[in-house]
Amino acid sequence: MTPSVPAVDLRDLRISLDGAPILTGVDLTVSAGEWVTVIGPNGAGKSTLLRAVGGLLPTPDAVRLFGTPIGELRRRERARVVATVAQAPVVPPGMAVLDYVLLGRTPYIAPLGRESAADLAVVHEVLDRLDLAGFHDRELATLSGGERQRVFLARALAQGATLLLLDEPTSALDIGHQQEVLELVDQLRRTHNLTVVATMHDLSIAGEYADRMVLLADGRIVAAGTPAEVLTEDLLSRHYRASVRVIPGPHGPLVLPTRPTRDGAVGAPDLGRDSS
Ligand code: ADP
Ligand code: MG
Repeated sequence: MTPSVPAVDLRDLRISLDGAPILTGVDLTVSAGEWVTVIGPNGAGKSTLLRAVGGLLPTPDAVRLFGTPIGELRRRERARVVATVAQAPVVPPGMAVLDYVLLGRTPYIAPLGRESAADLAVVHEVLDRLDLAGFHDRELATLSGGERQRVFLARALAQGATLLLLDEPTSALDIGHQQEVLELVDQLRRTHNLTVVATMHDLSIAGEYADRMVLLADGRIVAAGTPAEVLTEDLLSRHYRASVRVIPGPHGPLVLPTRPTRDGAVGAPDLGRDSS
């Protein structure tokens, strides 16, 4: 693993599900330590892309992580390299927060073995950092959406992987917890040289944290670059079929959804019109 080897290297990634083409040739390189956020309308293929990068879909040779085709990594090896927070993780019924986050340590625990004091220390530290210290014994099902989202992130962080895949990690969070979680991820990225690939629907927040953004539409990348290059009224109105204003903010462009008008105000196409 030399520094020049990209953390993620996608070459002509094509995914079909149930016979339907979902990703139709995606090329993307993410450097180690970089934060790349994938945006795009519902159904564009963002979650599918993250699942492919996480090794959850068969992708012969199209996905390389730190230079190794993902198919060549065994499950435990892969889990030490890449951790995913899925958009809607499956919650084991009756499981307590501490036990759930401890699942993140599975790749470090011998088969049929027990967790070590070090594993528990990692779990406690992550729970503290995510403001979940009082939740150890709570059943996941009893948590609020935002609390549960932080527990999902805690499990991924406890896994200690260098590549973090976050599929809408903040959608269930209030703005305070959104910032807290994203600041924590960014801080960990800097201190532990993590690489982050995320999807997010709040475009202004997405742009504040990403080094680079990728706009996915209809299964392919239609724009990529800095937040300022991707978050433009033209691209967003075209690919989201949305009426938006983009204004400069302190840490990047701010995207304001604006109610469509009939008289063609700035960035506000008439949604009834054919936008060909
Ligand atoms: P996004 O995360 O951008 O909203 P997804 O990656 O979840 O989009 O889905 C992209 C497209 O793939 C959608 O049209 C969705 O219906 C379809 N899709 C996702 N999973 C499956 C599946 N298991 N079988 C068939 N189609 C699927
Ligand atoms: Mg999705």
